[in-house]
Amino acid sequence: MDWDCAHFEDEILGFSAVNSTKPGRGGGLALVVQTKHQWSDAHIEDDLDTVSSIIKQRFERITGIKTDASGYNQVHRWRYASTQNAAASEVNPYLLDESMGVSATGDWCRGSEVEDAFLSGSALAAQLISQLARG
Ligand SMILES: Cc1cc2nc3c(=O)[nH]c(=O)nc-3n(C[C@H](O)[C@H](O)[C@H](O)COP(=O)(O)OP(=O)(O)OC[C@H]3O[C@@H](n4cnc5c(N)ncnc54)[C@H](O)[C@@H]3O)c2cc1C
Repeated sequence: MDWDCAHFEDEILGFSAVNSTKPGRGGGLALVVQTKHQWSDAHIEDDLDTVSSIIKQRFERITGIKTDASGYNQVHRWRYASTQNAAASEVNPYLLDESMGVSATGDWCRGSEVEDAFLSGSALAAQLISQLARG
C-alpha cells in the first residue's frame, strides 16, 4: 500500500488509517475504517455483522484492497467520539475554575482529534505554570 490514511469522497466511508504504519506499532497490517457521521447516525442500531460486510465491501470496491485476510475483525459503535460543540474556546481550549482549583482538558474542549487534545493540554499546562510563577 502506498498510503497511510485516506479521506473518502463517498456517502458511506469517511476516513481510513493504516494503523500499523503509526510509530511503535508492530505485528501485521492493521486497518481502521470509519464511516461518515451522517451514515453512522442513520445506521447506529443496525446489526453489526451487516454493517461490517457493507463497510468491507465498500472499502474493497474503492481501494481494491482485500479485507478477508484479517485474523481480527471488529465493528464498534463510537457513539460519543465526535465533538459537535467544543466545550471551550479556540484561545483558551480548556476549562478552569480558579476559585475551586479545578480544571479539565481533552480533545472535546477544542474538537475531536489528537491535536485538539495536545493543544488543550499544553495550553492548560502553560496557564497553570504562569499562575504558579505569579504566586
Ligand atoms: C476509533 C477512533 C479512531 C481515531 N483515530 C485517530 C487518528 O487516526 N488520528 C488522530 O489524530 N486521532 C484519532 N482519534 C481521536 C483521538 O484518539 C482522540 O482525539 C484523543 O485520544 C483524545 O485524547 P484525550 O487525552 O483528550 O482523551 P483520551 O485519549 O480519551 O484519554 C482520556 C483518558 O481518561 C481516562 N479516564 C476517563 N475517565 C476516567 C476516570 N473517571 N478516572 C480515570 N481515568 C479516566 C480514559 O480511560 C482515557 O485513558 C480517533 C478516535 C477514535 C474514537
